[in-house]
Amino acid sequence: MQITTASFVISNTSVEQCPKDNRPDFAFIGRSNVGKSSLINALCQRKNLAKTSSRPGKTQLINHFLINEHWYLVDLPGYGYARVSKKSKKQFQQYITKYFKERKQLCCAFILLDIRHDPQPIDKEFIRWMGEAQIPFVLVFTKADKLSAKKAEAQVSNYLTTLEEEWAALPQHFVTSAAKRQGMEALQGFIGSTLDEISTIKTF
Ligand code: GDP
Repeated sequence: MQITTASFVISNTSVEQCPKDNRPDFAFIGRSNVGKSSLINALCQRKNLAKTSSRPGKTQLINHFLINEHWYLVDLPGYGYARVSKKSKKQFQQYITKYFKERKQLCCAFILLDIRHDPQPIDKEFIRWMGEAQIPFVLVFTKADKLSAKKAEAQVSNYLTTLEEEWAALPQHFVTSAAKRQGMEALQGFIGSTLDEISTIKTF
């Protein structure tokens, strides 16, 4: 699947105000600074579709972008930024939880993980919550160019081994680098085939 058009639609903090048509959502989420904006820009081949963060944790919004007039790319706020207040952390949790639980158009979430980091409690907790809530997701390891191929492979393998301690089946995963455009075709292919599948089996 090639991305030919991409345009910003709406930002908000409430699932009720998200677009009401039946186009499917593909949502991107991860810790602040994980490389989410860079990945979205690389995936869509746009320089500034998603803003790369100069102030992590400050853009606490659900951002919808319309892609190919066909589906929504949803840029969700980064979690786990230490310097936001307890109150705004709680609000964040509430509206993101609500988005995931109530957004019937959500087709798949991409959980981003910095390939250099060993499994972090906050990510494991989030993955656990998504699994228990039965929200479809895949893992996307970012910044692969920062490690040698061998080290990158070892990090991924270590991550999956940790998840295997809790889960009978492992989620699908992708290894990417926005800087080198690694993994973009694989992600686009995954989105394309998911869209094909839902167009035949799912009506919202
Ligand atoms: P966000 O806060 O998750 O949206 O992360 P950003 O996309 O703003 O990226 C955070 C930092 O990581 C920035 O300094 C980016 O330049 C850097 N970064 C993001 N993706 C990559 C990548 O694929 N390779 C490298 N080397 N750096 C990256």
